Amino acid sequence: MNTPDPEAVLAALCQHGHHPVHLETDVLALFTLTGALQLALRHPHLSDSSRTIIAGAMDLWIAAMESLHPAIAAGMRLGLDPVYDVPMVDVPIGHCVQCDAPVFLEDCGDCPHCNAPWQGETL
Ligand SMILES: [Zn+2]
Repeated sequence: MNTPDPEAVLAALCQHGHHPVHLETDVLALFTLTGALQLALRHPHLSDSSRTIIAGAMDLWIAAMESLHPAIAAGMRLGLDPVYDVPMVDVPIGHCVQCDAPVFLEDCGDCPHCNAPWQGETL
């Protein structure tokens, strides 16, 4: 992949930055994306303008989830409070290259099935 010219990227953003974009995904992907963006919102170097855009977009889709099922929207809102953070121990971080078993974060690098050092790629 060629590295884009930063000035060309900025020029394109200035030209098309307010063009509407319609995306389609599913609730689980949106829930996951919400959690990732909530982590981003906690980053001390996130700019105020990015923070405003992310928070505004999340408000919109959480409101949309409210009409689908209030529990989903409530779960999304919990992600804004670090008190409700949970370790992501059930999410595989890759696969063992020897036996193809999923490798989880709590495995700390060794395959739990064949004890081979984990060399799998990130999923
Ligand atoms: Zn293995």
